[in-house]
Amino acid sequence: MLAAMKRLLLLIALAASAAHVCAAPAAESRRIAVTLDDLPLAQIDRYSAEQQEDLTRRVLATLQKHQVKAVAFVNESKLEVDGKVDARRLHLLDEWLAAGQELGNHGYAHLDLHTVDPDLWLADVLRGERQIKPLAAAHGSSVRWFRHPFLHLGRSPEIQQRTAAFLAEHGYRIAPVTIDNEEWIYAAAYADASARGDRLRTASLGEDYVRYMLTMIDFYEAQSRAIAGELIPQTLLIHANELNADWLDALLTALEGRGYQWVHAG
Ligand SMILES: [Zn+2]
Repeated sequence: MLAAMKRLLLLIALAASAAHVCAAPAAESRRIAVTLDDLPLAQIDRYSAEQQEDLTRRVLATLQKHQVKAVAFVNESKLEVDGKVDARRLHLLDEWLAAGQELGNHGYAHLDLHTVDPDLWLADVLRGERQIKPLAAAHGSSVRWFRHPFLHLGRSPEIQQRTAAFLAEHGYRIAPVTIDNEEWIYAAAYADASARGDRLRTASLGEDYVRYMLTMIDFYEAQSRAIAGELIPQTLLIHANELNADWLDALLTALEGRGYQWVHAG
């Protein structure tokens, strides 16, 4: 009951805020940075090498079509097959860099700072840069950003400060997220339906996904107005996965339709 009341009050506040903005004459600028996590590919082991290449190329083609320069975050453990870095998987990252996209570090093994020992977590950060640093350098790029797995920054101020200082010492900036959307839940259902060959289901999930993302963007725009009094530049978090190989084009088209311009995290 209390939760329902709170939700209602929030809705009223958001509606009031939206009404206020509607009355304002100034044109608003909508800007958004696109970031993708879990490279080379989420759930990589469920796909053959050929499928991995196809999915990667389709995500990259969509980014290129919309002229999006993204930052894409790698888990180097996903490069390995039987404990060794696999040349074809590593080449997928070459393709990202060759397409002008930027790579960031997402931890070697996607460890959760809220559940593992912080020392182990810090070691995993450094283990997660062994392939991407030289690869980025070979493309005239560098690895500047770190994205926390699960967006977990540490349970205590002490752990947060210690890990943030460590990241800064090693040349990393912490990559923020303003639109966190649990899109990976759609992605898991989508990959299952696709593996079954259920095209009706993948089509309906894909359409739902784009609708859902736009609803989330509505919500975060309202939050932005309520908290900052204006639309802040947003940072979108999505994943390198089959869902986005098929539906990122529709999502980016819809965002452009709402007036969004792409920005790159500088
Ligand atoms: Zn992740």
